[in-house]
Amino acid sequence: MSGERTANRPRLRLVHGPTPIVGHARLRERIGVDLWIKRDDMTGSAASGNKLRKLELLLADARAQQADTVVTCGALQSNHARATAVACASLGLHSELVLWSDEGLEGAPSGNLLLSRMAGARVHVITRDEYRDRHAIMQELAAEIERRGGRPYVIPEGGSNGLGALGYVQAMREVSEQMRLHLAGQGKFDLVAVACGSGGTAAGLALGAAAFDVATEVRAFAVCNDTAYFEREIAAIMAQARELDSSLPAPVRVTVDDSAKGPSYGVATPQQLRFMVEVARLSGVVLDPVYTGKAMCGLADVVRKDGAWIGKRVLFVHTGSVAAALAHGDDFKAYV
Ligand SMILES: *Cc1c(COP(=O)(O)O)cnc(C)c1O
Repeated sequence: MSGERTANRPRLRLVHGPTPIVGHARLRERIGVDLWIKRDDMTGSAASGNKLRKLELLLADARAQQADTVVTCGALQSNHARATAVACASLGLHSELVLWSDEGLEGAPSGNLLLSRMAGARVHVITRDEYRDRHAIMQELAAEIERRGGRPYVIPEGGSNGLGALGYVQAMREVSEQMRLHLAGQGKFDLVAVACGSGGTAAGLALGAAAFDVATEVRAFAVCNDTAYFEREIAAIMAQARELDSSLPAPVRVTVDDSAKGPSYGVATPQQLRFMVEVARLSGVVLDPVYTGKAMCGLADVVRKDGAWIGKRVLFVHTGSVAAALAHGDDFKAYV
């Protein structure tokens, strides 16, 4: 595995990039903007999605600290936990995942959990209530790993800290290069649209959009919590990232939109599920019902409600994840 440095940070090369930026005429017409999709659902295969960009920096740090076991957390079908488990296996590291579930570990593993288990992750299932103390639970687990003679490295939820966010600064560097080579003369984007679950991706995008002159605004579509929560989180992560890389300019404007989060985390409305099927049929782009489906639906609503957005240049960051979509077959069965 080759390495390189981002600013002064070591970075592993895990992403198969540059990931494509694609346009689909029928989808553009349906949504009403000059829509381009950054296919970060294609950063890899089993490790794919946005988390792999953060893991390039986080796992480089784990290695630099001579860690042998990576601890992280998420929901039972967490894309981040799966990407971590698979990337760790590729690097010869152990992974231990703290995952919350309302139903415990029922039935055969599927989707992300199946991939994490195949990659050898040790899974600790906790309740949604206990998950509020995830930070303390992971610290306890790290202490236990140390007592066993291991060397733990703890990654926060979603890989969302300042270091992880630098992965999306790097992604914006990649986009600016693609704009120069393939989209010359078209100017920068009016908006970068992305799903938001722990805030690190939006934070990195806003810093990177400013650093590489990619766009004037980032719109983060929350899939849980609310606008006030994510405004705080994203600001804190951006501040951390700028401490790590003092060359970063002030970010572009970040707007958090929580109107598309649906009934709850991981649960989409019938209208959202129908929309995701429509998108797949118009473009071949498969969205997932936890993150990207809600975000794309939110974008379509913004344009429908505010005519000023019609025809604007929008870069939608497709963050993944086909594994999550496959774990939600029951939700889709009335619409396919
Ligand atoms: C984690 C995730 C997001 C959200 O990214 P954050 O950095 O956690 O806000 C979006 N889409 C998918 C598919 C994800 O797995």
